[in-house]
Amino acid sequence: MQMTSKCLDTNSKIPFYFSVDFEDFYYDTNRRLGNPNPSFKLAALKKSYEIINRYSDQFFAGRRITFFVTAVLARKAPDLIQKIFNDGHEIACHYNFHDNVDNETAETFSDNLDIAIETLHSITGERPVGFRAPNFAISADNTFAYEELAKRFKYDSSYKTSEHESQILKNGEFLFGDNSLKEFYIYQMPYAFGKINIRVNVIAPGPTNTRMMLKNTPETMHEEIKASIALKRFGEPSEIANAILFFSSDLSSFVTGQVLRVDGGM
Ligand SMILES: [Zn+2]
Repeated sequence: MQMTSKCLDTNSKIPFYFSVDFEDFYYDTNRRLGNPNPSFKLAALKKSYEIINRYSDQFFAGRRITFFVTAVLARKAPDLIQKIFNDGHEIACHYNFHDNVDNETAETFSDNLDIAIETLHSITGERPVGFRAPNFAISADNTFAYEELAKRFKYDSSYKTSEHESQILKNGEFLFGDNSLKEFYIYQMPYAFGKINIRVNVIAPGPTNTRMMLKNTPETMHEEIKASIALKRFGEPSEIANAILFFSSDLSSFVTGQVLRVDGGM
């Protein structure tokens, strides 16, 4: 998971992490809206991976990236997951389906975790050691999730973890029940990188008017999705780009550790 990028060569002691949630947004959204048989966009996923891998070669000297993969995607595209693994990247767990952990019981959560782990294990031959909750979301009053995670994983990257009451051991490790879990949450990063004036921010885009979006989402679903958005429309690519420009420019020179939702209010 750990890598050092060319852009950080001036201070090579500083670790650099790059992770990707690898999921099919269209499948997950359609499933959430109750479509019993959503389609998968395998060609788009393969292309996404190629772009990310090329980017890694170009800017990170081909260092290892962590892909948090939903098991449902892995079952649909085992060859792709195998290829990512064979290319030297880490395959971590992004749950069975892209469902919110807080909607589960301890029992359904355990069952889905075990299914997800076994799915990834059957493809790569290795048990995943890392987990990230879908939508990063495990709430502070969730009593079972971290205990179940600590039984199965070495580290967790669900950013709300910091709100959880738990015993801190050392080096970012937390005690949950009888087991410990290393926490790797995005809010930690601003503190690690702030001293070299690197800011860490996140854009969380909503449904956006792109060719892929229009082609892959059935017309009948458009109105339903728009109805769930406060501004009652899809975003434009330029509106996502504007947010990225803001974070990339000096206009945000004192902004770090933020998640900006550019989703019209969902
Ligand atoms: Zn996700």
